[in-house]
Amino acid sequence: MKIETLAVHSGNRVDPATGAVTLPIHLTTTFERGEDGGYPQGYIYARNSNPNRAMLEECLAALEGGAEAATFASGSAASMAVFQSLSPGDHVLAPNDVYHGTARILNEIFAPWGLETTFLDMTDPAQIERAIRPATRLLWIETPSNPLLKVTDIQRAAEIARGAGAECVCDNTWATPALQRPLELGAGLVVHSTTKYLGGHSDVTGGAVVGAAENELFPKVKRIQVSGGAVPSPFDCWLVLRGIRTLPYRMRAHSENGAKVAAFLSRHSGVDEVHYPGLDEHPGHQIAARQMEMFGGMISVQVKGGREEAMAVAAKVELFTRATSLGGTESFIEHRASIEGPGSQTPENLLRLSIGLENADDLIEDLDRALG
Ligand SMILES: *Cc1c(COP(=O)(O)O)cnc(C)c1O
Repeated sequence: MKIETLAVHSGNRVDPATGAVTLPIHLTTTFERGEDGGYPQGYIYARNSNPNRAMLEECLAALEGGAEAATFASGSAASMAVFQSLSPGDHVLAPNDVYHGTARILNEIFAPWGLETTFLDMTDPAQIERAIRPATRLLWIETPSNPLLKVTDIQRAAEIARGAGAECVCDNTWATPALQRPLELGAGLVVHSTTKYLGGHSDVTGGAVVGAAENELFPKVKRIQVSGGAVPSPFDCWLVLRGIRTLPYRMRAHSENGAKVAAFLSRHSGVDEVHYPGLDEHPGHQIAARQMEMFGGMISVQVKGGREEAMAVAAKVELFTRATSLGGTESFIEHRASIEGPGSQTPENLLRLSIGLENADDLIEDLDRALG
């Protein structure tokens, strides 16, 4: 089945007790055992599993073309579980522009615990090959990346990982399975912050790991989810699943709007550089065109000048909300260096835009006025 159909039907059943066509929110913490001591519906205790989480996980696995999914209380908790599935002494490769929260997890939590990480430019396969060591267990990629929208060749990265006996894990938050399916290109695990496009309405925090069939790390991730308990609530799961029902159509609209806004920005005299993989001049355009169906709704723009000029543009917009995060129906604008804090590599004149579902002409007018 195609993605639109999977998004609507996966993880959905008519409720046998009431005939409700939408899954009820099961707030129970525990489930009754049978007279024989068994678990007649398969559920035991809500941290282990519950109907809302089970349906969301079924849907995510279907969308990504994976075998199984494990959902978490945030994207960061999902990333944590992947790193926790490794062993002290293991070596990880990660992009030098990986989501800053992921870099922080690796540097501040897992380095002291015994994981060593090499950060490198994942857009260069030669650099990946050079950085591989006998202890390398995991190749973490994020494409398009945050905030520079660099594009990594997923198939190539997965091949290199496989050749080295390592696992390729793709953070697919920015593309979503509606635009890009890394497991089909050879990745072993996909990670999501469902806080973003999957939830899609800026009203729920969550994360997920999806595993390819017979992936070695996934059972460990699942154990960490169940035993560690960084799980989403039934209501959180319900909200993410509700968001997913419209995901393919939202991603199409985000992408169409993104393309229009990026084209406008790339012609504007107040702009130095636009980072959007849909633009012909973007260095990753060819690879993105091969591995993505459309180019998404995330754009980074470097305005002429520095931090002050960028801040001034963010101060003048009226339709865009000044906020971090992305993937909601409403457009966001963010001065990225100042939220990433000390050590940020992000240029001071960079603004990150999450292009929402408004009419693109209104967004363009707003930006045009703010850019002056
Ligand atoms: C937001 C984000 C995360 C972290 O997700 P949270 O839900 O905020 O914990 C990880 N990766 C990417 C690419 C993100 O954009």
